[in-house]
Amino acid sequence: RPTVGVLALQGDVREHLAALESAGARGVPVRRTAEVEAVDGLVVPGGESTTMDKLLRAFELAGPIQDRIAAGMPVFGSCAGMILLADRIVDAPADQRTLGGLDMTVRRNAFGRQVDSFEVGMHAPELEAAGAVADGADGADGRPLHAVFIRAPWVEETGPGVQVLATTTGGEHTGKIVAVRHGPLLATAFHPELGGDGRVHQFFVRMVRDRAGAVTQQRRDS
Ligand code: GLN
Repeated sequence: RPTVGVLALQGDVREHLAALESAGARGVPVRRTAEVEAVDGLVVPGGESTTMDKLLRAFELAGPIQDRIAAGMPVFGSCAGMILLADRIVDAPADQRTLGGLDMTVRRNAFGRQVDSFEVGMHAPELEAAGAVADGADGADGRPLHAVFIRAPWVEETGPGVQVLATTTGGEHTGKIVAVRHGPLLATAFHPELGGDGRVHQFFVRMVRDRAGAVTQQRRDS
C-alpha cells in the first residue's frame, strides 16, 4: 500500500484521510518536514489558500514540498489546494504566493460567491472511469461524478502538457475547466472527499502507485 500524506495545517483533512484509506492507500497527516519526506504522495486539501500559504511558510513546509514536487512526487490539490499548485493565480491578494508546479492560471472564488456550496454537472470521462481500474473498487459504471463546489476556483488557461480531466456542463458557467492533470500533479476545483464518490481518490492513488512502480524499476535498471 502506498503511503499518502494529507497536508494537515487547515481544512478537511479527516475526510481526505478516510477517502485515501477507502482507495487502498495508507493515509497520514503531514505537518513536519520529515513527514513530507516520508510519503509517496501528498494531498493538499481545501480550506483557505491565503491562510494555508501563510501556514506553509510559518511551518517551513513550502520549500520541502516544492523540492518534492520538483523531484516528481504525485500531489493532488483540491479547491484551495488547486490554487496552491497553480503557477499563476488571478483575483488573489498581491502578496499571495503558491507552491506552484502546475502550468495553469487559476481564478480564485470563481464559483459560488453567493452560496456556500452547490453542485454542477460535469464532463469527466477519465475520472468517471477510475473505479474500473482501481483494485477492489465498485467498478466503473460511467455514472456522473458527484462533486461539491465551495467558493471554488476554476482554471482560466492551461499550458502545453496539461490534460483537462473535467469541464462543467449546464448551468450559467458551462464549459469551465475544473479538473486537470499535469504529469504527477492532479488538481480539482471541487471537493471529492465530500459526498462519498471515491473515484478521484482512486485515480490519484493509481498515479501514486504508478510513480512508485516507475521509481523502483529505475533503481533496478541502474
Ligand atoms: N476560496 C478558497 C480559497 O481561495 C477556497 C475554498 C475551498 O477550498 N473550499 O482558498
